[in-house]
Amino acid sequence: MSIIASNFKTNHTRKSTALFINEVNEYLKKENILSEVYVFPTATSLDFFETEANFIVGTQNAYATASGSFTGEIGTVQLDEFEIKTILIGHSERRHILGETQDLIAQKYEFYKNLGYKIIYCIGEPLEVKNQGIEKTLEYIYEQFVGIDTNYENLILAYEPVWAIGTGVTATNDDIKNVHNAIKEKINKPLLYGGSVKVENVREICQIPNVDGALIGTASWKVEDFIQIIENTK
Ligand code: PGA
Repeated sequence: MSIIASNFKTNHTRKSTALFINEVNEYLKKENILSEVYVFPTATSLDFFETEANFIVGTQNAYATASGSFTGEIGTVQLDEFEIKTILIGHSERRHILGETQDLIAQKYEFYKNLGYKIIYCIGEPLEVKNQGIEKTLEYIYEQFVGIDTNYENLILAYEPVWAIGTGVTATNDDIKNVHNAIKEKINKPLLYGGSVKVENVREICQIPNVDGALIGTASWKVEDFIQIIENTK
């Protein structure tokens, strides 16, 4: 059984999200799906998921707060309204584009852990680190666990090499295997791979030992592709 997660990033309107949800719901109801399916829509569409979704919905981001003065952020007062209990933390776009530090990420992690949220925690190295070899890559990744309680029961990890995200360049099976084996040896939690996963390669990637599923951006935004991805891993 694989865990399959779609990260919408800054894509989809409320209207297209509603259509997406309906189709995925219909499909999941019809099929005997063993995969655990997650969808991370934009914050503007989180409310659609109040209705009976056959998958788990999470927020792509939230601040470590219930409410307060954090312009542009949402907190648990807003998430509670839609019964959201799942959050993505440490995504490379938030680390590298939005400038989130390991300190801030660890703070968020602790806050949402204490509230019992399911956390998908992302780690992964940039290209210049990958080019220095596996030792350096692992060193870099382990730094991303500073301040993170990896014994937390509701933790899912996602290894997403920065150079593979949104680039169409998927890591090789060997790259994935080496990093996943090393992480699993230290931290025995479900571990997803992310970075240019698509309809054509998802099955093979999910069959690599120590790969428990996939976190997918670009290739999951068309509902027919996302359904095909679930189909390919059921
Ligand atoms: P991608 O994104 O599938 O477009 O590479 C993955 C992610 O950022 O989670």
